[in-house]
Amino acid sequence: MNITRAEFLMSNSDVTKCPKPNKPEYAFIGRSNVGKSSLINMITDHKNLAKISGKPGKTQLINHFLINSDWYLVDLPGYGFAKVAKSTRQRFSKLIFNYIETRENLINLFVLIDSRHEPQSKDSEFMEWLGVNGIPFTIIFTKADKLTKRKLSENINTYEQEMLKKWEEMPPYFISSASTGQGKDEILSFIEETNKT
Ligand code: GDP
Repeated sequence: MNITRAEFLMSNSDVTKCPKPNKPEYAFIGRSNVGKSSLINMITDHKNLAKISGKPGKTQLINHFLINSDWYLVDLPGYGFAKVAKSTRQRFSKLIFNYIETRENLINLFVLIDSRHEPQSKDSEFMEWLGVNGIPFTIIFTKADKLTKRKLSENINTYEQEMLKKWEEMPPYFISSASTGQGKDEILSFIEETNKT
């Protein structure tokens, strides 16, 4: 799929005010600094698309983009903010969970994981919750260029072993790099294929 058009539609703190669920939707989520904005810009070929969500105050919102007038790309607030007050954190979680549970056109949630890091409980707890609630998701291991091929495959292997303690099989995953463009074609093909069904 070629992305010919990518436009910012709106930011919301209220799920009911999101665009009508009349197009397939793909959302991106991850801990802050995981490389979410960079990935969104990379796959859409727009240098600053996700910057909107990077403006102060916008990071705690659900950001909708319309791609090729055909599907919605959603930039969700990050989870696991150590530096944010507990009440704010709970508000984020509520917003995120509410969005995920109610958004009927959500085809897939991309859960971003920094490929350099050891498995983190916040990510695995979140994915467990997705599993229990039957939410389709795919992992994206980000920043692959920061590791040697060998270290990358070691880390993914470790991740897989950790996941297999809880899961019958490893959820589907992609490997990406916003620096080299790795993963772009695979992620876009996945969206194109699942979009039609
Ligand atoms: P966000 O908070 O999840 O939206 O993360 P950003 O996209 O803002 O990225 C956080 C930092 O990681 C920035 O300094 C990016 O330049 C850097 N970064 C993000 N993705 C990559 C990547 O694939 N490779 C490298 N080398 N750096 C990256």
